[in-house]
Amino acid sequence: MKKQHFIANAWSAASEGESIPVIDPSNGCSLGEIARGSRRDVDAAVAAARAAIGETFDGPWGRLSACQRGRVMYRFAQSIIAHAAELAELEACDTGKSTKTARADAAALARYFEYYAGACDKLHGETLPYEAGYMVMTVREPHGVTAHIVPWNYPMQIFGRTVAASLAAGNACVVKPAEDASLSLLRLAELAAEAGFAPGALNVVTGYGHEAGAWLTAHAGIDHISFTGSTVTGRLVAEAAARRHCPVTLELGGKSPQIVFDDADLDAALPAIVNAIVQNAGQTCSAGSRLLVQRSVYEKLLDALADRFRTLQSGPPALDLDMGPLVNRRQYEQVKAILARAEADGIRVMMRGRIHPQATSSGFYQEAVLLRDVPHEHSIAQEEIFGPVLAAMPFDDEEEAVRLANGTDYGLVAGVWTRDGARQLRVARKLRCGQVFVNNYGAAGGVELPFGGVKSSGHGREKGFEALLGFTVLKTIAVRHG
Ligand code: NDP
Repeated sequence: MKKQHFIANAWSAASEGESIPVIDPSNGCSLGEIARGSRRDVDAAVAAARAAIGETFDGPWGRLSACQRGRVMYRFAQSIIAHAAELAELEACDTGKSTKTARADAAALARYFEYYAGACDKLHGETLPYEAGYMVMTVREPHGVTAHIVPWNYPMQIFGRTVAASLAAGNACVVKPAEDASLSLLRLAELAAEAGFAPGALNVVTGYGHEAGAWLTAHAGIDHISFTGSTVTGRLVAEAAARRHCPVTLELGGKSPQIVFDDADLDAALPAIVNAIVQNAGQTCSAGSRLLVQRSVYEKLLDALADRFRTLQSGPPALDLDMGPLVNRRQYEQVKAILARAEADGIRVMMRGRIHPQATSSGFYQEAVLLRDVPHEHSIAQEEIFGPVLAAMPFDDEEEAVRLANGTDYGLVAGVWTRDGARQLRVARKLRCGQVFVNNYGAAGGVELPFGGVKSSGHGREKGFEALLGFTVLKTIAVRHG
């Protein structure tokens, strides 16, 4: 398998003829190669997107009515549903996620396109009361060409939540997938062309982040950047955007707490706590990677968790176990090194899961790990790991719980488990993060629910109607009619 870029509804060979190997994380073997994007490839994709929009929104994509855009997007959503099994299989091979997780990602992707297809013609400005003799209105216009830097952990979902919102608002898109996870997005671009998107409305350029990604985010033809990934790269992207005063949305992950009070329904909390850290082998920006438990129920909950962790299995994606392998060797070695450092610092491993016997030793498998009594200040309780590692610690009262929960550089998501209604709201209001889930974690994904962070977790909102607003520019028109 040898994949090219997808630009203006056609396959396009790498202008410098170079490629990047695609590695199967379940066995470390080669799956084929993707094009290594050059400056010229990025230029071609941006030019195609600009042509689709047109100088004054008069290009083949820019001039469509909102209703027409919505119809194309809805056709694409139907095509995603029809090709869900194929897309899920591609994603599972490429990223190592279990096929059931990949299928769920394909379903979520279709939902994003359905949701935003329906939203196209509900996006409108306002008329504003003003002085006599004036009629003042606001209109919501697209930015123009938007760049989308998509990471490897949820390629289809992140493509769905940023690209669908951008297209619905009338922008044309250039997408740079992670070099470890480009296959599904290339196939999606092809399906989009078949669904009727105008040439250039949606382009995918593959390549390395420090090359194609950096060139795209610095490109003068880009009017908005949407980035999901690490805090370090997010800073580089924000700097590139600032040089051109280009608006940017950053979704940079987290160290999200699950707070369990002593009146919580522990039977309901336990599976949600486990799922929030083993989902996608912990490679999830909103992973519930810190567990804060009120001291009086700490031992009881940890014993029950240890029983569950003992049974957790990592293995080949096709076996649909609790977890697949980590995405690549670098991520695998990084997680191992973080765990080794924690153990050297005396942090106690309470339980480990298992690696399935069918997992080959050349695959990047990491078992689930439950750590107990983790000091709040330790790096393992402060830094994103992106692996199936849960750091548990006790707290004494509500004030301490809030202080610990807010006590990292991140602020993406939090879970609160308590039956006390007043405390649910009090704590939810005090948490510094973008989403709070009470007596659940994640609300089953919810494409309708605005998502994003504060502090080092980034800024701007994805998902829901809020994301759509972020992909528009508000223009005020004041008419003096006397
Ligand atoms: P990066 O932030 O480096 O990569 C995220 C995306 O940015 C990828 O598409 C990458 O492309 C691209 N990229 C890399 N460098 C640049 C650049 N200079 N300009 C523009 N785009 C660039 O994350 P990593 O993949 O290196 O993962 C490291 C850590 O980041 C993880 O361990 C995890 O903690 C965190 N992370 C968080 C994610 C989230 O959902 N918030 C998602 C992924 C990672 P390419 O991969 O081709 O280099």
